[in-house]
Amino acid sequence: MRLAPFLALLLAAWATTPPPTAAERAERWWADVSTLAADDMEGRLTGTPGYQRAADYVVTQLEEIGLEPAGTDGFFQPVAFEEQFVDAAGSSAALVSAGRETPLAIPGDIIIGRGDGRRPERIEAPLVFVGYGLHMPEAGHDDFAGIDLSGKIAVVISGGPADVSGALKAHARRDRARLLSERGAAGLLSLTTAKAVEVPWARSMAQAGQSGMYFADPALRDVKTEFFNASFNTESSEKLFTGSGRTFAEISALADASRPLPRFDLKPALRASVAMRHRPVTSSNVVARLPGSDRRLRSEHVVFSAHLDHLGTSTPINGDGLYNGAMDNAAGVAGLLDIARSYKARRLKPRRSMLFVFVTAEEKGLLGSRYFALRPTVPKSSIVANMNFDMALPIFPLKSVTALGSEESSLGATAAAVGQSMGLPLVPDPFPDRNAFVRSDQYSFIREGVPALAFKFGFGKDDPEAEVERQWRSTRYHAPSDDLAQPVARADAIRLHDFVGELALRVANAPERPTWSGQSFFRRFAR
Ligand SMILES: [Zn+2]
Repeated sequence: MRLAPFLALLLAAWATTPPPTAAERAERWWADVSTLAADDMEGRLTGTPGYQRAADYVVTQLEEIGLEPAGTDGFFQPVAFEEQFVDAAGSSAALVSAGRETPLAIPGDIIIGRGDGRRPERIEAPLVFVGYGLHMPEAGHDDFAGIDLSGKIAVVISGGPADVSGALKAHARRDRARLLSERGAAGLLSLTTAKAVEVPWARSMAQAGQSGMYFADPALRDVKTEFFNASFNTESSEKLFTGSGRTFAEISALADASRPLPRFDLKPALRASVAMRHRPVTSSNVVARLPGSDRRLRSEHVVFSAHLDHLGTSTPINGDGLYNGAMDNAAGVAGLLDIARSYKARRLKPRRSMLFVFVTAEEKGLLGSRYFALRPTVPKSSIVANMNFDMALPIFPLKSVTALGSEESSLGATAAAVGQSMGLPLVPDPFPDRNAFVRSDQYSFIREGVPALAFKFGFGKDDPEAEVERQWRSTRYHAPSDDLAQPVARADAIRLHDFVGELALRVANAPERPTWSGQSFFRRFAR
């Protein structure tokens, strides 16, 4: 056979290869999840060889798909961190009242935070209860107003006023430590009502030995001074209120009902000494580009993101100490790969360029995405939107989609239109008080003015799925059992990818870039 007809035949065969079926994609997606969440990735902890193996695997997939490297070092964008360990055995804490000292168990009563900047080695400071600890002057609510915080530890409780948007409360919570440190406070102590407990204290204790991280470059940190930051066991919280004329039970009841809270001095002071170790760590984001086709618009970017890191290994729970992170967030990483493969297989040529960003250190406080959003590998002003995948939770059939942030920008209307075309209604966040909108990487983009959405399998708070989801959170969330041996709605996951893929395509092809809604609180970050 002569070469030319043979080649022509081969090319014809290649050109007519049909895109993979949904079933084939589901199988491929699950294969990627299985590789990323396998035991030999050792829980993909930021800065570990296991994380690097997972990053290398993603790079081989991106090369195979045929995306361009768009990091600072090929596909990689290295980020420098300082890692902080708190040694519980070498640390101590006590409540001091009228010269009497009541020792606190670390981590039984109090867990000292490791992230968000350096802790002081020693602290003794009065405690002041400041309600929800939310600074939201635009909503006519400011728990810090008129309170002298200088040198004090602010004690706050979960929840917030009912008439304020979940997004705004969530932002105020996230920004709390920075605001307090800027007002001269010495620290922050967070309380949770029994009803609002999401992660049982025993599980938080199991992870208390894990390190925290913050940027090696202090200029990039939110909290720039040494600042005490700790959470208190709900079961132990009553003792903070002794002698104040109020009880934790009474305050909890008000907080659970989103009622206004009193602010007052607590009787005891907190005394603590913190034994710490620090070391430098480098870990990389992975960045790939699908170039756009429009001469003018291809210099702009729609950014997909999903965090690649997870919790590593820790104290065993039921004999298992390896945090595989299958749903959190191997599934999201594999989801981005599925979307990229599907674009390529369908030979789609979006007008704007697309970036696929796999970020590090999400579990350390959204640090990899924060770094990317502050120091993007493309011009900052060229980023028009962010679509984030983190724990979409394909653990029941997909009947609707929750797009976190959909009320905040024009992306919401585009998402609703895509949903309508696919028979997938958009439903609001069933639990707005969980702060989901600021709890994952989309928030890093929002803070830099970029309209963003994050995606979840939808349900209403009174649907049976709410119970499935609640069960999942109480047993598998941030637990070793978030592994490959759990029921997963694989075909439904692919449908969600199609939803997000189509949405991103519409955004990439639209003549105008997305805009913040007129009333959105987050509009203030637009530049
Ligand atoms: Zn997580």
